[in-house]
Amino acid sequence: MVTWGNIACKAPWSMITIGPGGELKLCCSTHEHASHISKHDSLFDWFNGEYYNQVRTEFTNKIWPTACKICKQSIEQNHTPSRDFPYFANLPIKNNVSAEIKTPLALEFTPSNLCNQTCVMCGSNFSSKWFAHDKRAVAEGLYWRGNQPGLVNIVDKPYQMSETDFQKILDILPSLETITLKGGEPFVEPRNIQILEFLANSNHKLKHIDITSNVHSVTDYHWTLLKKIKAKGTYINIGASLDGTGKTYEWIRSTPFENTFENMKKGKSVLGKDTFFISMTVSLYNFFTICEDVKFWYDKDLVDTVGFNYVYGPYYASPSLFRQKTIDKVLAKCKKELAEFKTTRIQQLYRTKHNPEYLVDLKNVKPWIDFVSEMRGFNILDYQPSLKRWVSKISAN
Ligand code: SF4
Repeated sequence: MVTWGNIACKAPWSMITIGPGGELKLCCSTHEHASHISKHDSLFDWFNGEYYNQVRTEFTNKIWPTACKICKQSIEQNHTPSRDFPYFANLPIKNNVSAEIKTPLALEFTPSNLCNQTCVMCGSNFSSKWFAHDKRAVAEGLYWRGNQPGLVNIVDKPYQMSETDFQKILDILPSLETITLKGGEPFVEPRNIQILEFLANSNHKLKHIDITSNVHSVTDYHWTLLKKIKAKGTYINIGASLDGTGKTYEWIRSTPFENTFENMKKGKSVLGKDTFFISMTVSLYNFFTICEDVKFWYDKDLVDTVGFNYVYGPYYASPSLFRQKTIDKVLAKCKKELAEFKTTRIQQLYRTKHNPEYLVDLKNVKPWIDFVSEMRGFNILDYQPSLKRWVSKISAN
């Protein structure tokens, strides 16, 4: 009898993940695109088909599937693997693991790469706003832009799921217990709003909805829909992607900070503080001021929890370029200054480690800062003195 205790990850028994180009993957962490939604008549069939069964068999035989290389490597390098993150650890599962027919209970869904921001560590694969800029970057000699680990690749045309494929999502919606809406930016994508309207106006089994949003484009109508969904007993969790404050935020994420700040206040007044947590992406650009930024959100009493993502790629935007001594110094300061904020997911911040492999991209740090500074109309180095010193040093060598 297979038990949960000897299975390395719940995801293959619980969830379907659909990426911004319609690609089907085991989860958001894997780089393996297993198939495409357009190739399957039904997502029930996909979930019960050859690929999933193979992965499940491998897991139950204690073999790491190729798709899960990233978690295996994290364990080998003493990092927390994605499968141990609260999101994966809390995935809903059926008790009977060995049941013949399985029903997807969780969906992570990205209907397009429509977005309203050009985050400096992102690209056209995930944000439609990057198309023209990526094209120009490559034309101006930043040819390495399109071939970065983590960024996957750059694309030059938008993807939007067809009506037929979207119907496949609607077909599994009533059986789901958890849904995660991602982007692009979920609130600028009409398909996501259709899903929220369905959830606000129907009876369903959904217990949990996670939304990863930059909170910039949430309108009064969206807040009203979310309020209705919450009133039905569905737990709503909005991971607000806020990677800094003030000018650092604006340079990293491209839109006015004040606007997002006001929207966070409105969201708290409509849905309550417990609906939000801040998810900060730790990059080269905010690393030196990360603990001040965390304190800002607690001081404003807008959230109870702050967690962290980490830029694995592109390498030229990753704090793994800093020496371990520099990283340790910043993290020690954070540990001390954030000690009173017990709900800070400080362990996630401690995943920041120097990685010598990333140094192949050290030469691209300055050209990328220059390119984005021209886009923004101001330079991040004028607002991040420690980063400025580091960039001068690497440029002089
Ligand atoms: S083991 Fe890791 S990569 Fe594999 S499905 Fe689980 S979270 Fe994803």
